[in-house]
Amino acid sequence: MSDCIFCRIAAGEVPARIVRRDENLVAFHDLAPVAPTHVLVVPRRHLASLDATDTGDRELLGALAEAAREIARELGVADGYRVVVNNGASADHTWSRSFGCAAAIGCRLSAW
Ligand SMILES: [Zn+2]
Repeated sequence: MSDCIFCRIAAGEVPARIVRRDENLVAFHDLAPVAPTHVLVVPRRHLASLDATDTGDRELLGALAEAAREIARELGVADGYRVVVNNGASADHTWSRSFGCAAAIGCRLSAW
């Protein structure tokens, strides 16, 4: 979806500090971090929200969580971090402010 910032980052149209990129997802450092380590892990396929997923998305959702775990280890924060999944535009004002768009699903990994 061309107006989705996450899809544009995944497509390489918007620059980001990429941490990981594979066939399922892209992970990158938040453009406006609220923690010393603040990484977003988003699917390459546009998903408007967690509520828009179904049982057919189990593998993708598992891949997002697995990537968050592995990235936390790679970045040296595995001893303490949060993984947040926002759902809906009103779920997280920081998310909306950072990206100007909250219409996408992703895991947010933060460690202080
Ligand atoms: Zn998208």
